Order: sequence, then C-alpha cells, then structure tokens
Amino acid sequence: MTTQQTNAPQYSALQLAWLQELGIEKPWLPSEQVTSKILSVPVSVATVDVPVPTVEAMVAPIRPIAPRPSGAPSARAAASAAPTPAPEVQIDTQALANAASDMAALADIISACQACGLCRERQQAVTGEGVMQPAIMVVGEAPGDYEDRQGRPFVDRPGLMLDNMLSAIQSSRTQNVYVSNIVKCRPPGNRNPKPPELAACKPYLMRQIELVRPFSILAVGRAAQALLETDEPLEKLRQVTHSLVVAGQKIPLIVTSHPVRLLNHPAEKAAVWQDLLLVKTVSGL
Ligand code: URA
Repeated sequence: MTTQQTNAPQYSALQLAWLQELGIEKPWLPSEQVTSKILSVPVSVATVDVPVPTVEAMVAPIRPIAPRPSGAPSARAAASAAPTPAPEVQIDTQALANAASDMAALADIISACQACGLCRERQQAVTGEGVMQPAIMVVGEAPGDYEDRQGRPFVDRPGLMLDNMLSAIQSSRTQNVYVSNIVKCRPPGNRNPKPPELAACKPYLMRQIELVRPFSILAVGRAAQALLETDEPLEKLRQVTHSLVVAGQKIPLIVTSHPVRLLNHPAEKAAVWQDLLLVKTVSGL
C-alpha cells in the first residue's frame, strides 16, 4: 500500500471533534504505516470549530438481539433448572457456553451463572451490545457501577470516551461495532477481577466472539493481557497486530488504552489515535 502524500486527509466532524479533544488544532498526519487507506481520500477542507457530540447523540438505541427460534429450549430454563450449586461445586462454564446456540441463549446462561460468586453482589449481568458481524468488537475487562445498574457495557463517561474513540474512525456500536467485557458481572467496589473470575467467565466471551463474528478485536487496558494471556506491559503490546484464535478462526486483535485511563491521562490520546488507525486498517474500514 502506498501513502498519497499529495492529498490532504479528509476528516469528518466527529474525527475533528476527537482531534480537538486531543488538543491538536489542525488534523495531523499520523505515521505512514497505518494511514494509507485514510490518506487516499480526496481533499475536503473543514473547520475544526465543530460541536463535541452529546452522550445522547453518541449512544443511540441498540439494535435488539434476535429472538430465540421458537421451539428452541430456553437456556435460562436449562440453567435455572440445574440444582443451585454449593459454593465448592465447580461449574463448567465452558460446557454452558458451548450449549448456547445464539446470543439470546448465551445471555440467559450468563444471567443465571453462579460460577464465581460475583453474581451474589452485582445487580445484573452485562452481556454486551452492538451489531452482529461487526468490523470491530471492543473488549473491556468488567462492568463498573453504572454498567451494573444499566445492564449495558461502557456507559457514562467511559462510555462516551469509547464512543468518541470509535467516532474518530467512523464507527459506532449502532453501526459496525460490538462492545463487551471478559467478566460479565461487576466486581464489588469496581476492584479488578481476580484470575479465577476471569477464567470462569472467559468461555462466555469466547463463545460470544464465535457468535458475534467480528472482523477484528480492540482490547482495551488489562483486557488485552487477559485475552493474550501475557504479563507484558500494555506499551509492548500496542501497535502490533496480534491474533486471537476462536473456534479455529484467527481474529486480528489490536491493543489500546482503556477509556477510563484516557479520562485521567489525556496525553495518551495521541498514542490511542495510532491504535485506532491500526484497528481501522486491519478491519478494512
Ligand atoms: N470498564 C470496562 O472495562 N468495561 C465496562 O463496561 C465499563 C468500564
């Protein structure tokens, strides 16, 4: 691929809003390696003075998940029909995940799951939302307080930050993105999930990826290390196209900062912009 340096890049209002957020007054040209597709669009001059999108504008209603085919057994019924386990009983979440024939069934199984104990303190499980067969599947670590109350991943300020990141590459959870977490139940006090909790919930995410069928995965923050099963620092994992093998399919995986981190460390937005361009390129956007 070649970079067309004679054409100035064209930026949408949302990209400009993101760049403005970065504190960059004029759109700048990111490194050649990840921008060739974007730089090949013809020139169009836009002003930077655009309104920053509101939460309402960014978080539009989500397409509902298709209902389970009639006659198919209710996974919730199957899961709740099982005897309530004593705490020491190991629940085979891999087998439960494998039994989910579609997203509705998987959501039911997750809601009824008691494998790790997080279910005892959360208000509701947060399965995920967005479009099926998306260009990008965003994976975070675990829901927080607001997500627990609303039953949706990445809401409130982190959600708005995530939506702005996606907007910068002309993407959204209503259009071409699915958003989820590794752990589906909020850890008390928003603590980090413990390794056994991550291990218990991961089969649900893997089955979810299999059902959602994303073109690429954007792993944010510590979710990246958990998905790639590494202790490497995030900085070493960025700007590399990793892959996650799910049901025999290799899915490109890009690592970036968690939106919450960006809220507290805005200077990292420039590096995140590079990550976003990379995920955009690998997704064929
Ligand atoms: N942080 C996450 O990792 N996921 C959410 O859904 C919200 C905050």
